[in-house]
Amino acid sequence: MDESFPPCEDFYKYACQGWIKGKVAKLKETRAKAATRTSDVSKWNERSIIALLDAIQTSSPGAEGKLKQFYTSCTTNTRWTALINYAQKPNDSQERNILGKYGDWLYDRIASFLIAHAKKELCSFILQSKFPLLLAKLFLEKNIEIISSAAEISNRVLQTVKKSVTSAPWIPTPIFLNTTIEFVPVTFDNPGILDELYSSLPLDSNDLLKNLEQVDKFNKLQESSAHLGSIITAAKLTLTQNATYHLVPDFVFVTPGWVQMPRFHPGFLDVFKFANLGVTVGHELGHAVMTYLNGVALENKTQVFVHAEPSEITKDVFKEKCDCVERQYSGYKVHLPNKEGIRINGTFTLRDNVADIIGMEMAFKSWVDNDIENSSYGKFQFPQLSRFTKEQIFFISWAQEWCEAFEDDETETTRLTDQVTYDVHSPASVRVLGTLSNFKEFSDAFHCPVGARYNPKANFFEITHKPFPYPNPVKLYTSDEGDLKPPTQLF
Ligand SMILES: [Zn+2]
Repeated sequence: MDESFPPCEDFYKYACQGWIKGKVAKLKETRAKAATRTSDVSKWNERSIIALLDAIQTSSPGAEGKLKQFYTSCTTNTRWTALINYAQKPNDSQERNILGKYGDWLYDRIASFLIAHAKKELCSFILQSKFPLLLAKLFLEKNIEIISSAAEISNRVLQTVKKSVTSAPWIPTPIFLNTTIEFVPVTFDNPGILDELYSSLPLDSNDLLKNLEQVDKFNKLQESSAHLGSIITAAKLTLTQNATYHLVPDFVFVTPGWVQMPRFHPGFLDVFKFANLGVTVGHELGHAVMTYLNGVALENKTQVFVHAEPSEITKDVFKEKCDCVERQYSGYKVHLPNKEGIRINGTFTLRDNVADIIGMEMAFKSWVDNDIENSSYGKFQFPQLSRFTKEQIFFISWAQEWCEAFEDDETETTRLTDQVTYDVHSPASVRVLGTLSNFKEFSDAFHCPVGARYNPKANFFEITHKPFPYPNPVKLYTSDEGDLKPPTQLF
């Protein structure tokens, strides 16, 4: 955070600048180009995978034993320097071919590779690609509690969305959403099948190169099987970070790798869970709402009717709201270091801007309606955050999901220019500005006067249309039970 920035004028900097400063210094040390919440979660996931691999007993039978054998051959491999040298010289070695796509990755990571622990990081990276089924199984088993906590919050947001689109005054013919939310890409009902499958893979704990050859041959065979091929594709999603809406068969999918620290933890207060996971699920549900409100969706560039067509009033009002958002974002420029900013294309980014705005409204309303914290956290206090109201904490925590730091001005300019040109999502700072400028509760929470950059007008894009009552701000509390994590995502 950096409270020297006025929140009603530059909330992105207010929430992110402290973190950005710290990260820029670290980026220069590690030669990485950019840092985001996603890159922090990736590091966390990498450490989780290493912990899982370290914990497997060397004597483990079956498929896990094979995983351990490969891992051991990787962590004890003495020919890394030779591999790296080869990897840097394309067309110059057989080993380059075996390492295949790791070559470029290795090249970028040479500096960090040489520091302690990096060998395990590299091995974890290779194993994730070579053993997707086994890694997915281990990771999902470890994440049962996280997934159930994430599903609980997400389903609360889903209920709020369903209620809102059946009761909004501008939707006279109620719309009934059938959308569901999924977190698990693949289930392993019979783990014995994996033991059987991997029994045909010969491995040697002392020979990484030979193992790479063997596992590549083995995987090629498995992936060519129609049945197993699709399961492997699904399993590969487990450790990625993504949230998506799928029109057919109408569900939101959040990957298990996304709901991780510092973004999500079952021990977080609900305010953090709703601000981070809740708004993201709300965004994906926003895409669902849009297809229901249009009645049609684009499938391979042709319009198909997927839902009952809404009434004329509904379509007109929704179009008016969207036109307003289009104009709003077309008026924004993203700031570039030492240069004229670039203008946002409000038409190109419209769908995701509207999804952002719907997501914020729905998650905030869901959090307020459920009001879990009033009843459960009265006893415990967080002194370092007591100067904020819990509504303020919600918005700060959400904005911090979008903080990004760049190694230098050139990287920042290139990345932001590319994003504005090619990405249907607005750049992070514009997402924060555009979403909160449409949300009255933000202006209320930070007492932004009408006319402030974040409170430009009196009309707000809202599905529910009317302001809703919510309790007076109370102090932020948490449980002091030893193993509950503090909200480390506030920085
Ligand atoms: Zn989207």
